[in-house]
Amino acid sequence: MLPGLMMDYPLTLDKIVEHARRMTPQKRIKTKLPAGGWHSYSYADFAARVNKLGNLLAGLGLGLGDRVGTFAWNNHQHLECYFGIPMAGAVCHTLNIRLSAEQLKYIIEHAGDKVIIVDGTLLPLLEPIAHQLHGVEHFLLFNCEASAVDRLPRAALYEDLLAQASDDFTPRCADENMAMGLCYTSGTTGLPKGVLYSHRSMMLHTLGVLAAAAIGPTEADVVLPVVPQFHAMAWGLPYACAWAGASMIMPGPHLQPAPLAEMIEAERVTIAAGVPTIWNGLYHELRANPRDISCVTQLVVGGSAMPRGLIAAYERELGVNVVHAWGMTELSPIGTVSKLQSRHADLDEAARWDVKAKQGYFVPGVEARIVDDAGTASPWDGETMGELQVRGYWVAGAYFRSERDEEHFTSDGWFRTGDVCTIDASGYMTITDRTKDLVKSGGEWISSVDLENALMSQESVLEAAVIAVPDARWGERPLAVLVPLADGCDESKLNECLLQAFPKFWLPDRYVIVDEIPKTGVGKMDKKALRAMFAGGELG
Ligand code: AMP
Repeated sequence: MLPGLMMDYPLTLDKIVEHARRMTPQKRIKTKLPAGGWHSYSYADFAARVNKLGNLLAGLGLGLGDRVGTFAWNNHQHLECYFGIPMAGAVCHTLNIRLSAEQLKYIIEHAGDKVIIVDGTLLPLLEPIAHQLHGVEHFLLFNCEASAVDRLPRAALYEDLLAQASDDFTPRCADENMAMGLCYTSGTTGLPKGVLYSHRSMMLHTLGVLAAAAIGPTEADVVLPVVPQFHAMAWGLPYACAWAGASMIMPGPHLQPAPLAEMIEAERVTIAAGVPTIWNGLYHELRANPRDISCVTQLVVGGSAMPRGLIAAYERELGVNVVHAWGMTELSPIGTVSKLQSRHADLDEAARWDVKAKQGYFVPGVEARIVDDAGTASPWDGETMGELQVRGYWVAGAYFRSERDEEHFTSDGWFRTGDVCTIDASGYMTITDRTKDLVKSGGEWISSVDLENALMSQESVLEAAVIAVPDARWGERPLAVLVPLADGCDESKLNECLLQAFPKFWLPDRYVIVDEIPKTGVGKMDKKALRAMFAGGELG
């Protein structure tokens, strides 16, 4: 072998901060403050504070690889943690603020967090368990009164310590294979599992996000990550924005449709990213209180399936291009993106929306295959369903502090996603279901996702979730849980419309009307909770 003669230049996150400081020092990061109003500073100020945080953490005696939890909304301090913690050689463990106290305690202890950096506005959520967290040596608080330190053990003020720290810092992350981030999956089944990112995987993922084939933010973009920073590193957007020099708008706790609409219009946001529930809410807000959000060139949506009807409504009524993406915490998270390609140039509107409603093509850096029950690779014909397996530069190879198991990782080096999908001849993937969410009726599969999409495209339906309920005759039957819009839903009309797309046996046996569909910590419909509510086929 003749070795190449290029530099072995480590893929470590400090390079991003240095690049932003040198290339786009004047570009801004703005945070909407909890009480309203804005905090705004430049990438130059940001870089200085990241260095201070590195010194602060080193001064606390943190060793390489130690875990530092964050418990915060999307804001500039949380961004500082995204860089300062890994640059100190530690691991940034983003804690999901929507978990129960019991779940949080489990995850903090499993991760072995030594320090937790806490957004003071969330203190009441952490207070009840703080005294039981004996492994946590320091709680650092921001966004709070000085007296808040009395409410937690071993607590100090983040800003005070930062003010005392020097901004001259030598990063302690020379090795690209060091761990840099830790995120626990939302745990739709079983206990939450930790995904441990390395500097290398996150840098390669960031290059992936920067590619035009994926999201491709540039210096000219104004990016609003609505996706929480605790959901798969805010889909890698903070790293991509800093490297590109894009402006960032951090929404803080203001995630309701009205303030989001106002923020997007006022700040001329060009890229906004969030789960379908958020964009569904925003769409209905804009119908009631119109605003011009046509500044958005990419409304990135992932985390669950974006209904085709909503994609169409955004484009037709609001002039907003929707970019549907599929990912997983285990993929850092980007796997596929459903942008149009040159082959789609001549398609009419309706056909274009069909393409965009798919989860999309695999971005460069991620390889995929679908396999049947026997483990044989299935064809990419757009029809054959199988389990999706992936591998690539930013795909998990094992879970943190857990045995590498065959349930999730195959012996020939693929990650089993647990998603069921088809892939068409041009490489566009369509999720049909989670393996655990498919409805099996009389031996035939029914896709809950397809039914939900069809139901949510109805004028009368705000949200729809379809789950399997046990049935003596068929094994399982679909049950639809609906949140209607103002005037309620007419079941027979819904059935009539479903029959245009699906066979009769796909029709839900029952419709249940609820005020709200329970959501997981990251805002997805919580089918585990729905199954628990309707477990025996009883209608609660
Ligand atoms: P998480 O790691 O919590 O983000 O969950 C990942 C799971 O969310 C995937 O395995 C899919 O089941 C689901 N998911 C993510 N994006 C999409 C999408 N665009 N359409 C349908 N399901 C999605």
